[in-house]
Amino acid sequence: MRCPFCYTEETKVIDSRLVSDGFQVRRRRECGHCKERFTTFESAEMVIPKIIKSDNSRQPFDENKLRRGMLHALEKRPVSSDDVEKSISYIVHQLQATGEREVSSKLVGTLAMNELKKLDKVAYIRFASIYLSFDDINEFIKEIDKLKD
Ligand SMILES: [Zn+2]
Repeated sequence: MRCPFCYTEETKVIDSRLVSDGFQVRRRRECGHCKERFTTFESAEMVIPKIIKSDNSRQPFDENKLRRGMLHALEKRPVSSDDVEKSISYIVHQLQATGEREVSSKLVGTLAMNELKKLDKVAYIRFASIYLSFDDINEFIKEIDKLKD
């Protein structure tokens, strides 16, 4: 990586060790040009990406909003709260695992649809009919036909 002092790309790691109970790597680096030393920390990026809305604005991911949408679709359906919470955790996990800083709201919708499909077919159809745009409807009708089989 580039030296933060003289910007040359020729730096090398002179020491490397685990810190923060093994959740971070601390590296001591030295610049081959100006000989300055500096430290970097490496850790897994486990942030939940921001959501890019259809109007291109960005919003923080809102777990409660996702929960409300799913529970609305699941109204009066025989699905336990425990299973709903597991699905929500799994969606959050998948969002973190993208490693992206921003993802489209469409991805969140698709992940929620995938989970609802496993939980309850009626809830899945309810959710999809609200969530999908008109263009996606044909695609969805094909999906429903597959479920019938
Ligand atoms: Zn340098």
